Amino acid sequence: MAGASVKVAVRVRPFNARETSQDAKCVVSMQGNTTSIINPKQSKDAPKSFTFDYSYWSHTSAEDPQFASQQQVYRDIGEEMLLHAFEGYNVCIFAYGQTGAGKSYTMMGRQEPGQQGIVPQLCEDLFSRVNENQSSQLSYSVEVSYMEIYCERVRDLLNPKSRGSLRVREHPILGPYVQDLSKLAVTSYADIADLMDCGNKARTVAATNMNETSSRSHAVFTIVFTQRSHDQLTGLDSEKVSKISLVDLAGSERADSSGARGMRLKEGANINKSLTTLGKVISALADMQSKKRKSDFIPYRDSVLTWLLKENLGGNSRTAMIAALSPADINYEETLSTLRYADRTKQIRCNAVINEDPNARLIRELQEEVARLRELLMAQGLSASALGGRGSRQGQLRELSGPRILSTHHE
Ligand code: ADP
Ligand code: MG
Repeated sequence: MAGASVKVAVRVRPFNARETSQDAKCVVSMQGNTTSIINPKQSKDAPKSFTFDYSYWSHTSAEDPQFASQQQVYRDIGEEMLLHAFEGYNVCIFAYGQTGAGKSYTMMGRQEPGQQGIVPQLCEDLFSRVNENQSSQLSYSVEVSYMEIYCERVRDLLNPKSRGSLRVREHPILGPYVQDLSKLAVTSYADIADLMDCGNKARTVAATNMNETSSRSHAVFTIVFTQRSHDQLTGLDSEKVSKISLVDLAGSERADSSGARGMRLKEGANINKSLTTLGKVISALADMQSKKRKSDFIPYRDSVLTWLLKENLGGNSRTAMIAALSPADINYEETLSTLRYADRTKQIRCNAVINEDPNARLIRELQEEVARLRELLMAQGLSASALGGRGSRQGQLRELSGPRILSTHHE
């Protein structure tokens, strides 16, 4: 199987107060899923255009028919990823872009009606779907962790007492993980919303010229979603596990363009270590797809961020990236660089597999087999009811165990 490409969306925000007061010009335009940018210093040149899975025009307000709201972004990207999580895939959504471009707004949003970002909407939707699907054969568990990667160190955002940084280790089967990171079980959206709140308050925040309250760290919110079911037909218990990683990256601008000095500059270099490595990983994965090079050495280990996101970037995951764009002429260079980054990311393909135990696989395969056989029978003008027990589970079992039918399939 070729695997699914990383879904890539870009989103342009409104002018901020400073840009409005400086009479900034908007250099970004969108048409369908194409995004174009003009160079304000060479406005006679043709615009540069890029096509993505989605181009979100959030520069204006809800009255504009083109306007993309928080709900729309969630429905297109968040909901799709949540449905994959229910199927048992690992999923990841990460926000990339210059400080102040709208990453945190897109991921977390504001706590006002209609302003919530992907993460709270996804958590709410997760619990409403779980509550709709209650049955005696099904049970669910949801565990949450929230960490911050700051200057290549991992901090637990859900354990305010943990002062120091946590170690990143590698499990021989499960891969890289953070040792001693809190993993809290939650049973309702209210629980998870509380944790999100606490974590957001604990994030390291340092002012830069670009955006007073912008965070200079990477934040990774993880939900481990487990579905257990009891299959009455076979009497087997089975389990599907999905890891949902929601990542708000630190600003992608180079240290000097945000006026970093001294300590901030050092910090900038470390933030860049994770981000430059992310860039290298994405380029290497993209090159691998376009067969430009055979060697498949991907430098995941060179930074904490890429090491922890290894599976989400090139492995067992359904992944989406949202690149946040500033509309303003003064940010032209950074915005163009974000567009190029997003353009490269869309070439990456991941080979996601359903994370299920052998029982779950067996039951799923039996069910698929039943469906295939049923189609075969239909194609031959026989209805399943002709073999008795139409649609009933006992009927399915009889169809499955009937050697005559099975051999038909294998011929
Ligand atoms: P980042 O996390 O990329 O540094 P933020 O998400 O904090 O940037 O956005 C910077 C400011 O712009 C915030 O005040 C945020 O609320 C606002 N903002 C960003 N995107 C949008 C949007 N699509 N609609 C309205 N306000 C936005
Ligand atoms: Mg932010």
